[in-house]
Amino acid sequence: MTLDYHSLLTAFALSGCGLAITFFVSWLVSRTERFLIAWTLGVSFMALGVLIYAWYAQTMDPALGALGYTILLSGLAFVYGAGREFRTGILPWRSMAVMAVASSAVMAGPMLAGYNGVAIVMLNIAATVILLVTAWDYWIGRAEARLTITLLTVLYVVTGLSFVPCAAVLLQAGEWHLSAAPSNWAEDLNIGICLTTLAGIGALSLALNQVRLARGHKRDAETDPLTGLLNRRALLGRIASEIEGPAALVIFDMDHFKTINDVHGHPAGDDVLRAFGEILALSCRSQGLAARLGGEEFALLLPGASLVTAAILADGVRTRLAKRHFTGHSGSFSSTVSAGVSCSGETAIDFDALLRDADNALYAAKRNGRDRVAVSSDDMELLADTRSMPDGQRGPIDLVRLKSG
Ligand code: GH3
Ligand code: MG
Ligand code: MG
Repeated sequence: MTLDYHSLLTAFALSGCGLAITFFVSWLVSRTERFLIAWTLGVSFMALGVLIYAWYAQTMDPALGALGYTILLSGLAFVYGAGREFRTGILPWRSMAVMAVASSAVMAGPMLAGYNGVAIVMLNIAATVILLVTAWDYWIGRAEARLTITLLTVLYVVTGLSFVPCAAVLLQAGEWHLSAAPSNWAEDLNIGICLTTLAGIGALSLALNQVRLARGHKRDAETDPLTGLLNRRALLGRIASEIEGPAALVIFDMDHFKTINDVHGHPAGDDVLRAFGEILALSCRSQGLAARLGGEEFALLLPGASLVTAAILADGVRTRLAKRHFTGHSGSFSSTVSAGVSCSGETAIDFDALLRDADNALYAAKRNGRDRVAVSSDDMELLADTRSMPDGQRGPIDLVRLKSG
C-alpha cells in the first residue's frame, strides 16, 4: 500500500495530537516542569498548522495558506522555546515572538500577494533556521545527558535539513505562482522524515525529563535540606562506593545547642547550623566529604588524611565558627563546637570503628570543657606531633588514648 501526500500530512497531524496529549498529561503529573506546556502548545500548533495546510492544498485559498503556515511556524517557535526552557528554566518569550512574527511575515506577504511559490520557499527556509537553532540550543546543554541530547540534536538537524530540498526544488523550477501545492520527491522525503523524527524527538524529550527528575529525586534524598550537605545515608553510601584506602574522620557536635535554641529561638539555631554547614563545606572543598549526621552533629571524612592533618582542619573549623556572630531573640551571640577525630592509620577504612573512636574523642572534648578538638589514638608518638602543630593558630587539641577493637 502506498500512502499519498495528504494521508502523510494527516498522519503527521494525528501523531502531533497524540504527542501533545502525552506532554500535557506529563505536565499534569509534574507541574513544575513548565517546559512541557510549551511543548504541548508547540506540537498542537504544528498539528493544526499542517491540517490547515492540507486544506489549503485542496482549495489553494491564499488566506488559508498564510494561516496554516503562520500556525505551523508559531508551533516551531514554541518547540524552540520548550527546548530553551528545559535547559535554562526560562521561556524565551521575546526570541519566540521574533521567530514567529518575522518568519510568518516573510511567508504571509508573498502568499497573500499571490506569490505562493515564494511563500513556500520562505516557509522551508524559516523552518530550517528555527530547527537548526533549536538543535544548537540542545547541543549547548549536552553535558546534562550526553547520549540523549546528542541524539536529540541529530534529530533536530535532520528534520531541519529535510526542508532544504523542498526550497531548492522550487527555486530551481523558478515558479512563483503555483496552481497546486508542490508535490515532488523533496516534499515526500520531508514529510516522511518529519513523521519519523517527531516521534523520536517526543520520546527523547520525555526520557530526558525523566532522567532529570530521577537525578533531582536522588539529590533530594541525599541532601540535608537545612545545610545542603550530604545526609547520613548519603555519606555512608559514598564511603561504601567511593572510599577505599585509609581515612580520618571528624565528628562535630554543637556546644550547648539546646540552650541556644531556648535563649535565642529555633530560627537562630537554624542560622547557626546553616553557617556551620557553609564553614564545613568550604573547609573540605576538594579533600573530603562533609555531612550532617543529624540534629546538631556533623561529620567530615578525609580520605588519606593523617590524624594530625584532620585535627588541624577540625580546629580551623572550630575557630571559624567561634568568630561568627548571630542574632536571635536575646540579641547577638556566638556559638562553639566540639570535635572528635579518629584515623584508620594505614589500614582500609572501617567506618563503624572510626565512628566509635571519633565519638569517644568527642565525648572527651565535651568532658574537658567543650569548644575544643580531641583526637583518638593509641599512638604515643602522636602527642609529639600534636605539640608540633602551629600553636598560635590552634586551640586546645587533646589526645585521648583510645583504640577501637
Ligand atoms: P552538648 O554541648 O552536650 O552537646 O549540649 P547540647 O545542648 O548541644 O546537646 P543536646 O543533645 O542536649 O541538644 C541538642 C539540641 O539540638 C536539641 C535540639 O533541639 C537541637 N536541634 C537538633 N536539630 C536541630 C535543628 O535542625 N534546628 C535547631 N534549631 N535545633 C536543632
Ligand atoms: Mg548532639
Ligand atoms: Mg550538642
